[in-house]
Amino acid sequence: MIELNVAIKNKYYANSDQAVLAQLDFTVKPGEFVALIGPSGCGKSTLLNMISGLENCSGQHISYNENAYNERALQEEGESNKALHQLGYIFQQPRLMPWLTVRENIELILQPNQFHKIDDLLAQVGLANEGEYFPSQLSGGMQRRVSIARAFAINPQLLLLDEPFNSLDAPTAARLRQLLIDLCEQRGTTVVFVTHDLQEAVYLADRIIFMSDSPSTIVHQSIVDLPRPRKESGVSELAWQAKLLSKYPGLLAGQID
Ligand code: ADP
Repeated sequence: MIELNVAIKNKYYANSDQAVLAQLDFTVKPGEFVALIGPSGCGKSTLLNMISGLENCSGQHISYNENAYNERALQEEGESNKALHQLGYIFQQPRLMPWLTVRENIELILQPNQFHKIDDLLAQVGLANEGEYFPSQLSGGMQRRVSIARAFAINPQLLLLDEPFNSLDAPTAARLRQLLIDLCEQRGTTVVFVTHDLQEAVYLADRIIFMSDSPSTIVHQSIVDLPRPRKESGVSELAWQAKLLSKYPGLLAGQID
């Protein structure tokens, strides 16, 4: 299992003289599921892009605790694939290659000696019979399931998700949240999950980090001390949210006062 350490100070984009992120310091413990909530435009995607290395982070501190790396997975898959195992990223859109089948989309990120895993993965996301379909032949929810299978195909130690269930119908989103929990629990994945939905965060996360408007800082952190399995609209879950928001009414807008 892997630990993530983030210490960001004054992240600028080249075309702006105002920082997107002012200061963010946090650690995600091995196997912990952290949700990030903040107002639109506060820099949540920027932060995930920095953690993943898609966005420049020179001068910033973002590191994984490699010592916590899962040795068993390494032995099973071979030392040469170490880099591939560390990070999975599920974007807002499934980002499948439209000219490749479901199976080929997953093959794309694997070594040939790992292709044998694909049938099992597709079965786990409920797509055992759709491997030869093209993305255009699938519903939005099925495409998301392919993107989840693809992310888990590399057995990520750290998984980043950027509002992955937006714009899905409620039952499909609920099924995919449960699938995500099951896969992460099975594998001990360390997770950073961006959402604007407090109910979703309470259902999924061990801890919620609330960000301010840009230039953003962390305004509050809450441990979600509710037993699992949880319910999306369970009495305890709704009471937990209500208590938090009655104490900090501006929290979802990034304000603590
Ligand atoms: P969020 O995910 O919280 O909605 P983003 O990280 O997408 O926020 O964006 C934060 C701010 O950074 C926005 O003002 C956005 O316009 C700006 N931004 C994002 N990506 C870039 C980029 N590649 N170049 C310049 N500005 C960017």
